[in-house]
Amino acid sequence: MGVTPHPGTPVRRSLRAPDVDKLVEDACAGQLRAVSRLLSLVEEGVPDLPRITAALAERPGHAHVIGLTGAPGVGKSTSASALVDAYRRRGARVAVLAVDPSSPLSGGALLGDRVRMQEHAGDRGVFVRSMASRGQLGGLSRATPQALRVLDAAGFDVVLLETVGVGQSEVSVAGMADTTLVLLAPGLGDGVQAAKAGLLEVADVFVVNKADTPGAEQVVRDLRRMLSLDHRRGGERWRTPVLKTNAVDHEGYDEVLEAVDRHVAWSATTGEIEHRRTRRAGEELDALVRAAVTRRLAGLRGGEAFRRMAAEVAGGRSDPYSAADRLIGSLLS
Ligand code: GDP
Repeated sequence: MGVTPHPGTPVRRSLRAPDVDKLVEDACAGQLRAVSRLLSLVEEGVPDLPRITAALAERPGHAHVIGLTGAPGVGKSTSASALVDAYRRRGARVAVLAVDPSSPLSGGALLGDRVRMQEHAGDRGVFVRSMASRGQLGGLSRATPQALRVLDAAGFDVVLLETVGVGQSEVSVAGMADTTLVLLAPGLGDGVQAAKAGLLEVADVFVVNKADTPGAEQVVRDLRRMLSLDHRRGGERWRTPVLKTNAVDHEGYDEVLEAVDRHVAWSATTGEIEHRRTRRAGEELDALVRAAVTRRLAGLRGGEAFRRMAAEVAGGRSDPYSAADRLIGSLLS
């Protein structure tokens, strides 16, 4: 497993225990260099991760994770910047974690983020970071919850989890957030496209961006119609708001933040927040177990027992299912 090493980051050997403790302590004290270093270790999937993760687990913070997803070009990066600005005006410390499940390298995304987030350069209450998965199955399912744990322990009030593009892995990463904003824009990702991409299910708030362009009102109407069909049950159910923004001019964000606040309150009273965090931990566990099993299987395949079993099956002395069961037994013992 593992995700793309950060460009320019040397491959790290094991850290000494006091170094891990110091790094975690510094990150928890809000030192951004330590936060950055920990995220690199998470991204690389270094052997020290179990110790780092255990140390972080003892220092839970209070971050609310806001997912931001939508089709390319809809205005996610511009909106992330506008949201950072809106939260900064409230005095909140904000981290942006941009994950790109499809990109072969995080270099491009990193550069893009740096350019787009320039207006927050020098603001120590803002931290921006990209991660890519090199297309490896499970890479982001493992790394994303761990990266969120680092940012939470580092004391950020809000973490914006921005996913690049819309595919199954983006939908799954967006599903790791406490509150998910799905962005649409006229001509890009209308309601029907959002439904096809599986976004209606993960959306807690719809944001129709580029409200300054023709067709925004139509996208809002279409979405509301689809949602009124979907949400007739009422009761304790969350009614997904449909809001309009102009990310370039930072317009409409009071309403977006107010909707997120309401979702936070609703999640707390209904127990939805625990449900989502448990699901996120489940994704992480699933990825860790798969990786461990895959590693052991690779070792087993190269070994004598595997070769002998294959010969037994080939020679008709064992059937493949019984042989596979015995190998699985030895894999887990
Ligand atoms: P992403 O690919 O979803 O991250 O989209 P970007 O944030 O890179 O935005 C894509 C393009 O849309 C850029 O040229 C932005 O300047 C533009 N854009 C973003 N938000 C708005 C908006 O609210 N109104 C208008 N007119 N353009 C916008």
